[in-house]
Amino acid sequence: MPINLHIALIAHDGKKSDMVSFLLNNQTFLKDSTLYATGTTGSKIEKEGFKVKCLLSGPLGGDAQIAALVATQQIDMVIFFRDPLDKHPHEPDVQMLMRQCDVHNVPLATNPKAAFYLLRGVISELTKKEQQKS
Ligand code: PGA
Repeated sequence: MPINLHIALIAHDGKKSDMVSFLLNNQTFLKDSTLYATGTTGSKIEKEGFKVKCLLSGPLGGDAQIAALVATQQIDMVIFFRDPLDKHPHEPDVQMLMRQCDVHNVPLATNPKAAFYLLRGVISELTKKEQQKS
């Protein structure tokens, strides 16, 4: 049964290759989903053949755009691979996005293992709900 999740993707520069690997390794789970991403992350993902709605680059407001989608209940889960070892000039936006996830109870994974379990958990829950309906 196809589950159309709306997933927001963001990766700091040091983690963009991890994001691409994560998506490639989980393609089967993502094939029916709608992907949103901050600009540079999105362009790297697109190069691998994924269809993705690219927002602004993070430092130009992409994180804030994703926070707005979260706040208006348009996103089911956020995958945000953060690089704790680097400085980010848009850190206030980063914090704001994470805060919005907590305010609106939207699940957020900040590393590949958490994203692995979250994706499977969300798909399994929604699949059960769909089966109960039919
Ligand atoms: P980017 O933004 O995908 O445009 O690099 C990510 C970020 O650093 O927030």
